[in-house]
Amino acid sequence: MAPSMSSSPVSADATASPVVSAYPTIVAFRAALDEARAAGKTVGFVPTMGYLHDGHASLMRAAAATCDLVAASIFVNPLQFAPTEDLSSYPRNLERDTEIAAEAGVTLLFTPTVDEMYPFGPVLTTVSVAEVSAPWEGATRPTHFAGVATVVAKLFSIVGPCRAFFGEKDFQQLAVIRRMVADLSIPVDVVGCPIVREPDGLAMSSRNTYLEGAERDAAIVLRRALDAGIAAITDGARDPAAVMATMTDVVAAEPLATLDYVAAVDAATLQVPALLEGEVRLLVAAQVGRPRLIDNAGVTIDTDGTVAV
Ligand code: AMP
Repeated sequence: MAPSMSSSPVSADATASPVVSAYPTIVAFRAALDEARAAGKTVGFVPTMGYLHDGHASLMRAAAATCDLVAASIFVNPLQFAPTEDLSSYPRNLERDTEIAAEAGVTLLFTPTVDEMYPFGPVLTTVSVAEVSAPWEGATRPTHFAGVATVVAKLFSIVGPCRAFFGEKDFQQLAVIRRMVADLSIPVDVVGCPIVREPDGLAMSSRNTYLEGAERDAAIVLRRALDAGIAAITDGARDPAAVMATMTDVVAAEPLATLDYVAAVDAATLQVPALLEGEVRLLVAAQVGRPRLIDNAGVTIDTDGTVAV
């Protein structure tokens, strides 16, 4: 393909990778992917907001393991931030991100500006995935999932048919995207990937960089709350309220954490069932110092009562 001047890819730092190319424009990125598919290659796609860590890299490696070509996007999407949130201070480091992405097998990096993505200012067309977006994260951040679904729909429209890799770290987001793809018949195969954690159990997150001093150790209270919920279920608890009370107590005992919510839900519906059975997901969100952190864990309760984590 010979891209027009305005759509030429920008070569990344040669020390980072000999092959990764950054595409700041929609037209060039789309053309590069169309060309790859026309040559018979399968495309893996990993959308991110950058400031990459090993959680992001795990998605890229999963894509590289199953697709011929891996594309990723780095775009801090204003639509998914409320006016009170950290859009302007969200951490950014494109040079380092390029190295991490290249190392993880990405060869095409989409790096649009806000003007490139939203040239007409505020978007008039939005995607909202009603019930799936309503509880938990949606209750605290009422505009968040419409912002996510809208940008992901736009990215899928730019990328075209592909396998797209998302982390279970944002479990409700994964459910929102799956439902959007199903409802709108978007030709994308959505793949969920496991949560990557620090050695002490803290789920990796770009926002962990906001944690200061003792807050870093306090932040593992989310993992401890999930473990307490799992232990309660393993000990036979089937009443979601009892499991949620156990999790709440763990977070309440950490003075540096302020609980937003805990939940024990049906993994498919994200609703709290009358009794816990089958695929259960434990969710937790809490403020620890500046960042609001989220985490979750899956538990399977078999019909014979066996519990698997
Ligand atoms: P973000 O840059 O925060 O928008 O995240 C981009 C993608 O990386 C999303 O699909 C996230 O769920 C995923 N992700 C973020 N943190 C982790 C993690 N610790 N483990 C696995 N996936 C993650």
